[in-house]
Amino acid sequence: MAADRHTDGHIAEAIRQVSADHIRQTIEKLVSFQNRSTISAQDQESIKEGRGIGAAREWLKAEFERYSKDCGGCLEVKTDTFTESPGERIPKPTEITNVYAVLRGSDAKQAERIVLVTGHYDSRNSDTFNGTDPAPGANDDGSGTAVSLECARVLSQAAAKLKFPATIVFLAVAGEEQGLNGSKHFAQMAKQQGWKIEAVLNNDIVGGDLGPGQDASVVRVFSEGLPAAASEAEIRRIRMLGGESDSTSRELARYIADVGRSYQSGVKPLMIFRLDRFLRGGDHYSFNQQGFAAVRFTEFREDYNHEHQNVRSENGVEYGDLSKFVDSDYVEHVARLNAATLASLASAPAPPASVKMLTKSLENDTTLTWEPSPGASAYEVVWRSTNAADWEYVQTFSSGVRATLKVSKDNVIFGVRAVDTAGHRSLPVVPEPER
Ligand SMILES: [Zn+2]
Repeated sequence: MAADRHTDGHIAEAIRQVSADHIRQTIEKLVSFQNRSTISAQDQESIKEGRGIGAAREWLKAEFERYSKDCGGCLEVKTDTFTESPGERIPKPTEITNVYAVLRGSDAKQAERIVLVTGHYDSRNSDTFNGTDPAPGANDDGSGTAVSLECARVLSQAAAKLKFPATIVFLAVAGEEQGLNGSKHFAQMAKQQGWKIEAVLNNDIVGGDLGPGQDASVVRVFSEGLPAAASEAEIRRIRMLGGESDSTSRELARYIADVGRSYQSGVKPLMIFRLDRFLRGGDHYSFNQQGFAAVRFTEFREDYNHEHQNVRSENGVEYGDLSKFVDSDYVEHVARLNAATLASLASAPAPPASVKMLTKSLENDTTLTWEPSPGASAYEVVWRSTNAADWEYVQTFSSGVRATLKVSKDNVIFGVRAVDTAGHRSLPVVPEPER
C-alpha cells in the first residue's frame, strides 16, 4: 500500500517541542499591537508605543533573531520591503515589509532546494481602510503567523541534530487583506531570482475557533487542480491525459496526508480539492501564479462573527477576532503537522527529474524512466485508480532509473518519488508521456 507509515523518530521527537503555551504568547503579543492593518502606523513613535504594523514587524524580526541566537546563529533573518502604489484597498503609496528567516540546508548540492511556511501578520476589522481601531486578528492571521514562528523555533533547535539537506524558509507576509500584496511581491522575487521552491505551506485562519460546529480533529488543506501558471499547451495536455487532479500543489496535499498518517500531530489533514473557499483568497495563490506548489491550511469551520469584524457586542453576540476565541491546542496541532511536513521534505532527496512514461506503442505494461536524484538510494513508483483521491499502490526499485510495471497506463495515474537510506520520501513526480 502507498499509505503505509513513513516515520522518522528524530522528526517525531522534534515536533513534540511545538508548544501551545508558546503559540498563545505569540498570538497575544501580535494582538497587543492593536491594529496591524497594512495601512496602520509604522512611524518610529508608534513603533516605540507598540502599536500598528510597524511595531509588529519589528517584533517579528526580534523574535526570529532570538530563535537564531538560541541555535548558535543558524537562522538568517531578512526583510523584503517595497512600496505598493495606490490601488483599490491602498489609499496612498505604502511601504510593505515581509519578514523571514532562512535555515540554510546542510548539503551543498541540495541547499538550493527550498520548502517554505507562511502566514500573514497584517490584520483588519470591518473596514479595510481603518488603520487605528482595534483589529486584533488573533485567528486571521495571528494563528498562521504563530505557526510560521513556532516551526522556526522548533526546527532551528532540531537542525543541529537533524541536519536538513534542503533549506527551510519561515515567512510572515503583510498586505494579505489589501490584496495579497506582500506574498505577490515575495513570490515574484523568488521566481525572478530563480529560487527552487518545492513546497509552500500557507497557514491562514488555523485558530480552531471555539464556536459551535467546529471539528478540532481536522484541518482543511486546499490545493488547486488546474495550475494557475499552466500555459495553454499544458492545459491541453492535462485535458488529454486526465491530469486535472495532479498539479504539483495537489501532490503536496497528498504528501501532507501521508505526513498526517505518519506523525502524531493531533490533527488530521482533510484534503479539499479546490483552490480556496468561496468568496475568499489567500497567499498560496500568489505562489501558484508563479508556478510554485502551494497549499492553504484553514480550520474546519470558520466563524464569520470573529473575522474581519469590529470588536463589539450586538444583541448578546460578540464580534471581533479576539484571542479568547482561539484554541491554542488546535494551533499547536496544526503547527506540528506543518513542522513534520517541512522536516520530511527538507530531509528527503530531491524529487526525480525528467520523469517520463514511454508511449511508443500500444501495450498493457507501463515503462517509466527518470534521472537520478542527489541523495536518493531508491525510488518508489506510486499509482492510483484515476478516480481515487490518494495514492493506492507502491513498488520500490532499489536501483536504476527505469521501471516496467504490469499495470496499464490507461487505467491509473503514476508518480515516481525518491527515497533515501533513512526512508525520507520526496514529493512524487507525475511522468510526462514520451513517444
Ligand atoms: Zn487571512
